[in-house]
Amino acid sequence: VVAFAVFADLGTASSILVNPIADAILTCALFAVIGTFCTFFVSPRWLVAHLIFSVACTVAAAAATYRTGDVDVASLIFRTDVVLLAIAGVPLTSHLLVTVLTDDARSSLLDPLTGLLNRRGLESVIHDVWLLGREEDRCSAVVVVDIDRFKAVNDDYGHEEGDAVIVRVAERLGVHMGRYGVIARTGGEEYLAVVSTSRLHIDALIHGVRRAMRDPDDGVAVTVSVGAAILHASSPLWEQNLDLVTRAMRVADSMMYEAKAAGGNRIVTTVL
Ligand code: GH3
Ligand code: MG
Ligand code: MG
Repeated sequence: VVAFAVFADLGTASSILVNPIADAILTCALFAVIGTFCTFFVSPRWLVAHLIFSVACTVAAAAATYRTGDVDVASLIFRTDVVLLAIAGVPLTSHLLVTVLTDDARSSLLDPLTGLLNRRGLESVIHDVWLLGREEDRCSAVVVVDIDRFKAVNDDYGHEEGDAVIVRVAERLGVHMGRYGVIARTGGEEYLAVVSTSRLHIDALIHGVRRAMRDPDDGVAVTVSVGAAILHASSPLWEQNLDLVTRAMRVADSMMYEAKAAGGNRIVTTVL
């Protein structure tokens, strides 16, 4: 791609030499097209190199045109300005557009309240995270966490305080197990984590969730119900061609409902 951009730049520059000098400035407008190509396909450093080269060629072409003597100087300056504007403006505008669209795409995968992945974001990464655990021969688990009686928090303290609780739980989950996988907010007051760690650690990690939520200084204290589906690295299920992560999500969800049905504020795990 870089070779093509360099070839296009040199080709454009050399066409200035072989064509009548009166057409030189017009030819330089081609640099705007090459610059747009560079915006999408080469690194910013190559884009800057292209811009410097294009501006130098355009200024040189304008100087050569001026030296021929029979030119209207005002018109020459005008044409040079327009071409320079196109050379710099078109690629930079495209660059801006690409940046904005990329940010937009990224933010559509995140939950704006907590900064965690949303359901869509989770779907986009979950298979990779799950397989990474397997490749590294670790124990994988899907963990579903739901805040207990959260409706009462909203009713008693207001929606804003409810939001603060949702954010706090998200942060604590992140601190507790963020480094072992990914965490998403999959519903109003419900979270799902896909984690992988050693066989010795996985139980402690899951059972630590309830403790990680507790802080004696909390104004509004909440508890959580946790359901988890664990898959050991040595499980024969890995060998079967199953959509294991979808199954693990379903099982973890029903484990969470078991924890709820038993009164909440507890953890139910199962090994697949
Ligand atoms: P359970 O113990 O069975 O989980 O009961 P719960 O009250 O936690 O769950 P339920 O599903 O009955 O109610 C969840 C409430 O969460 C209802 C909804 O108004 C509230 N909620 C959902 N999203 C948000 C949010 O973004 N902010 C706030 N403040 N509340 C939310
Ligand atoms: Mg709840
Ligand atoms: Mg819920």
